Amino acid sequence: MTRDGGSVAADAPSETNEDLRWAIRRLCEAFPDEYWREVDASRAYPDSFVKAVTEAGYLGMLIPEEYGGLGMGMGPTSIVLEEINASGGNASAIHAGMYTMGTVLRHGSEDQKRNYLPRIASGELRLQAFGVTEPSAGTDTTRIRTTAVRKGDRYVINGQKVFTSRVQHSDLMVLLARTTPYEDVDKKSEGISVFLIDLHDASESTRLTVRPIATMMNHETNEVFFDNLEIPLDNLIGEEGKGFRYILDGMNAERILIAAECIGDAHWFIARASRYAKDRFVFGRPIGQNQGVQFPIARAYVQAEAADLMRWRAASLFEANQACGPEANMAKLLAADASWEAANVAIQTYGGYGFAAEYDIERKFRETRLYQVAPISTNLILSYIGEHVLKMPRSY
Ligand SMILES: Cc1cc2nc3c(=O)[nH]c(=O)nc-3n(C[C@H](O)[C@H](O)[C@H](O)COP(=O)(O)OP(=O)(O)OC[C@H]3O[C@@H](n4cnc5c(N)ncnc54)[C@H](O)[C@@H]3O)c2cc1C
Repeated sequence: MTRDGGSVAADAPSETNEDLRWAIRRLCEAFPDEYWREVDASRAYPDSFVKAVTEAGYLGMLIPEEYGGLGMGMGPTSIVLEEINASGGNASAIHAGMYTMGTVLRHGSEDQKRNYLPRIASGELRLQAFGVTEPSAGTDTTRIRTTAVRKGDRYVINGQKVFTSRVQHSDLMVLLARTTPYEDVDKKSEGISVFLIDLHDASESTRLTVRPIATMMNHETNEVFFDNLEIPLDNLIGEEGKGFRYILDGMNAERILIAAECIGDAHWFIARASRYAKDRFVFGRPIGQNQGVQFPIARAYVQAEAADLMRWRAASLFEANQACGPEANMAKLLAADASWEAANVAIQTYGGYGFAAEYDIERKFRETRLYQVAPISTNLILSYIGEHVLKMPRSY
């Protein structure tokens, strides 16, 4: 069976996908381990890598051709991210640039689509900052406190976001804010709206402050403060008060794409670990001859392949415009577990060298750990399956 899920992905022809894999691998050859190690050590944004991906047009994979994109499906798009991570890179620098525009595509006005999507597809505009999480609300998004209050022909934004990634390398930001207070709505998910923020205008106005957060891996993420930031009414996406649903609509895409990144990570760890297990001789034989070393690597491979099937099932349903909430969530959980398992196995296989930066295992180990927590934590996925699939009582 091919890595593209064989018959599972009926609408993802393997030949085309193999060509795409080949093209991404070629692109990634210009960004070897040393590049990512250096970027990680200096906590830099991988500018030249992002430029190469942008120039190749991959940021427009999900943007329909009529808006200047490549009009590709979820399956091929997920391959781009998978192959970047499978090459030893870190697609987190660009992944949101592929899917954040989905809010504009699905819920924006025709004017907004014509205005933004072609420029996002060409790379002229980067829309890769997504402001949802807040310090006091955490996972309970309906408790966000950032407000957007209408004043004449403007909305005035006040509040704070946390872990807003890539905001310093983005031209636009999708922002979730309350337009009706929590206390005044019948359903807690109502009264939340989505806005497009022009980050250049905002920072010129000095009403937006960005404070970087240092994290255990190289991930450009920030606290963002809004102090009476005024934006035009036109920057509202869709209907006022319906934003929570719009954001939920975009989450399946995000889950499938992150799952593919985790699959890429898992295969990178497994390839490195099995190679090292063959090459490293201790007690006069390759360590991989010991089943205590070999079997965990084999098990990690089994788990990665199983997770990949769910990723392709979710991608196929998504492409067919069918409901795929359970599959997208399960794909994300299984793939994040598989990559974390593979990371643990790789570091164990390398022994002490797994901790040495020059072998890259510890870097990728730190990077893939994120996906147990973000963009949604494993617990919240289990709670979704428990409640929505198995109809057990809601826990929150
Ligand atoms: C590097 C990084 C980048 C990020 N980028 C972005 C971004 O670009 N935009 C953005 O909006 N957010 C971003 N996030 C935020 C991320 O989505 C959140 O951290 C994540 O959703 C968890 O929210 P929290 O940190 O507030 O945890 P909390 O909500 O405080 O939860 C803490 C722990 O408790 C568990 N928990 C909470 N409630 C329950 C429950 N009812 N049942 C069981 N377990 C529960 C959670 O699973 C979690 O493990 C990023 C985070 C990181 C670390």
